[in-house]
Order: sequence, then structure tokens, then C-alpha cells
Amino acid sequence: MTKIGLEIHCQLTNLESKLFCSCKANYRSFEPNTNICPVCIGLPGSLPRLNKKAVEKATMIAMSLNCDTPDKLAFFRKNYFYPDLPKNFQITQLNVYGEHSIGQNGKILVDDKEIRIRRIQLEEDPGRLIYEGISEKTQITLVDYNRAGTPLVEIVTEPDFENERQVRLFLNILSDLLENLDVSNPSLDGAMRADGNISIEGGNKVEIKNVNSFHDLEKALRFEITRQESLISREIPIDQETRHWDDKRKTTVSARIKEGEEDYRYFLEGDIPWILIDPTTLDKLKNEMPESISSKKERYISKYNIPTQVADVLSSDKFYSDMFEHAHNESNVKDIANIITTDLMGLVDTDEKREKSKLTPQHLADLVDAIETNKITRTSAKTALQECVSTGLSIPEIISGMNLGNVGNESELLKLVAEVFSEEKNAVEEAKTNPQTINFLVGKVMEKTKGKADPTLTLNIIKKKLAL
Ligand SMILES: [Zn+2]
Repeated sequence: MTKIGLEIHCQLTNLESKLFCSCKANYRSFEPNTNICPVCIGLPGSLPRLNKKAVEKATMIAMSLNCDTPDKLAFFRKNYFYPDLPKNFQITQLNVYGEHSIGQNGKILVDDKEIRIRRIQLEEDPGRLIYEGISEKTQITLVDYNRAGTPLVEIVTEPDFENERQVRLFLNILSDLLENLDVSNPSLDGAMRADGNISIEGGNKVEIKNVNSFHDLEKALRFEITRQESLISREIPIDQETRHWDDKRKTTVSARIKEGEEDYRYFLEGDIPWILIDPTTLDKLKNEMPESISSKKERYISKYNIPTQVADVLSSDKFYSDMFEHAHNESNVKDIANIITTDLMGLVDTDEKREKSKLTPQHLADLVDAIETNKITRTSAKTALQECVSTGLSIPEIISGMNLGNVGNESELLKLVAEVFSEEKNAVEEAKTNPQTINFLVGKVMEKTKGKADPTLTLNIIKKKLAL
């Protein structure tokens, strides 16, 4: 049996400042080594000041993953030397000596399987190492401390995954959850990183580190399952080790032997006092938490009678659900859901497109209203929506500006129907007995108006003319 566990690091990218100083948490827009101060580059004598918002947001993540949260928080120093870690220790959390990290013993359902969360800890991200040069001789490593001290939440699962598909589902659910909580934007480069550990029956645990993307992690896990199964079948022992994913050769390669936890010489961070979290604070945070994705989904289904699949898409994507919540009213709710999940999706499927989009919920409400009141057909509505996303003009402006309004003039439609009847004599005969051919005739009138004929009116005229 295959057992896979995950260690996921998520930056709290939506916070204003770093974990222990007032430098910006959003380090990505800075020139190297300009978003730093004595605290985050670890100058002697500097003192950390804990970011309260980071504690609150990390607690929200812990509560969303059904973890126990402690009433007293402590931080530890994890000692090791690496050039990206200017203090030579990382301030993190640990569950020892009666101290508890920000979350423990959680669980979450993934495809009806319960995945247990061992612990969640709040810690600081190290700086970034940038490797320059191609050959051995010219190799240079640059260090950028802009990232050092960024608030990071580490989520450690129990080895409950049986295959890489469950891992992928879990990471998708987690990433939607973080976005819904408004604590992180997981699509930012490096905002969410995952390492895995994997063992199969009869073998030791192998860790897989330094994987660039979730997609690579899946490939690495797949590769490891095959490699370990093959070793076991040949009765070759599987070493306990850390391996890296080599994307060029599509294999995992053996890396350093991992230090044991005792090598880090953890001790309590004396510069940060214990943080007491009383029940009132926890209640307050609970109340401030946005509605969870699963409860949103249930509400969409039970209150608005939206099909499960549509409710799934709407609730799991914050951009769509925000749009939906603000655009719908009692009467248009299904149409709004429909237009978002069918027409809007292709237009705003990346962060970049979403940032550029000028579409507001009011536009969607107006568009659905224009369809309902026969001012525009469903086909023309697609064009109008596209225009709206790129220009932000109002729906009436777009309808008149692009001449998308319905051909609802009865005499004009009568003329067009007559034309179609003379061009499609065979179809007209067939239509008298076959309702599907009536649709064909409606389609022909649509063609002549480039999709702008009022469909109900056209249908009525055709039926009348066929004497049905
Ligand atoms: Zn700083």
C-alpha cells in the first residue's frame, strides 16, 4: 500500500507587512535587497515584533481545516546555516515541551476520503537564492533578502494519500480555501510550495523536495511509486533519504541525507513573549471568517436550486462567487449563474485577464435583464459580454454602439420569414410534421439577422405561417 504525506508552505500574500517587521509582505515588486530592515536581515540587537494579523489569518486557516487551536502560542528558533537565512536561525513553531503550534489534529474531506492534518505552524520565509551562470566556472549565486521574514504557514498532513490524484485534488481544494479566506493568492509565483514524502509497503520513507510546481510534484510521486515498487519486487531495500525532482530527465535523484529534528537545536524564541489567545478572540475570528466554500455550495443548491456542478464551479472560485453574489437578485439568479459558468469563464480564466477585466456585477445583471426583456438574443449577449470585459461600457451603450439589439420589429421579421420560406421549400413541408425542422427555420432567420432576431417572436411567426 502506498502512503503519501505532504508538507505545504503557503505565504500569507495578502498581508500588509512581514511576520516580525514592517517591511512589505508583497516583496515581489521590489529591486533586490530593497525591502529589508535590521530585523529581517538579522542584524545583531534587532528585535522581532509579531504581526498580529498574521496570527489571526493563520488561526483562520487552522480553523478552516478543522484543527484544534491553542490558547497560548510560542515560537522556537530552528538553528541552521544557509545563505538565505541571515540570522542563522528561522523563527518557527514546534509541538514540544507542552507548547502548541497554531493548529493541530485537523482534517479535511478529499473526494470522500478524510485527510488528517498533523499540524499547522506559523513561521518566516527565508530569502531567495538566485543561481546565475551556466558552466561550473561561471556559476554565481545571488542572494535577495526581500522575501526574508514573509509570513509563511506550513501545513503538514498525515500520510493519508494513496495516490497522486488525491494529492492533486487536495492541493486544489487547499488553494481554493486559502483564496476564499482572502489570506493568500496561491497563483503568485512561489506563494504555495509543496514537498511530499512517500513510502510503499515494506520500504522506508522517501522525501521529495525542491519541486517547482504541483504538476511536477504529481510527476515525481508517480515516478517514485514505480521506482519503489520495482526495488521491492527485486528485494532491494529502499533507503530512507531525500530526493529531488529532475525535470529535464523526468526522474527523482538522491540528495543530501536529511538532518534529524534534533540537529536543529530548537529552543524557545525568548524575544517573542507567549501570545495568549482567549475564547473571545477565537469567537471574533470565527465571526469574521468568510463563508466556507462548502457552505456556499450548499446554499446555492438549496436556496437557488442551482445544479450541483454549476454550484461547484461558482463556489470554489472566489472571483466567480463574488461576481455572482453581487449580481444576482431573486428573479435572475439562475441566469446569472449560467452566464458566469458558460460565457464568462473563457474570458477571465487567468489572473492577468481578471486584473484587466472591466466587468462589474451590475453589467451582468443588466445583460441578463436585456436577454429577459428581449432586447438582445443569447447569441448577441456573448458578444456584448466580451465587449464589456474589455471596455467596461454599459450594456445599453454596447447594444446600441455595436448594433446588437434584437430585430423585434414584426413586419421586418415577417419579410425575413417569407424569404426563408421561399428558399427552403422542402424544409417548410417537413416542418409541418417535424418540430425539429421548425428550429431549423428559426435558425435560418437567425442567420439572416446575424443572431439578432427575437427568437420567441420569430418562432410564433413561423408557426402561424405553417398554420400550426
Ligand atoms: Zn524588515
